[in-house]
Amino acid sequence: METGDGRGDKAAFLEEMSRLYETMYAAERQPELVTFEQRERRAREISQAAQKRLLEVHLARDPAAAGAEAATCPHCGRVANRGKRKRTRKVQALAGEVVWEREEFYCRRCRRHFSPSRPVAEDRERGI
Ligand SMILES: [Zn+2]
Repeated sequence: METGDGRGDKAAFLEEMSRLYETMYAAERQPELVTFEQRERRAREISQAAQKRLLEVHLARDPAAAGAEAATCPHCGRVANRGKRKRTRKVQALAGEVVWEREEFYCRRCRRHFSPSRPVAEDRERGI
């Protein structure tokens, strides 16, 4: 999955959707899709793959995922700029498991890591 600035995400998505479309409509796949249940199951698989892909790309573009030098601790409100690290989470979404990578900071006062809970731009506006 591309996680950069998003160039190519749309093309990759459309290419994947085209491939999935063929699993439903290609002539050689029709013997697999005879009953209503088979057709419905295939359509559901395709829609879940599309949902998962859209979510993964959107999460990868999350501004909170990278770039901040400091963030406000959601517990005590102090600015934390130490212990910055990446944390990868696996999230069970409606369409299946997706990977979500975010930055975490360490608050020395609270002695805990946290992920910024609001856009970094809001912290920047506050002079952080
Ligand atoms: Zn704190």
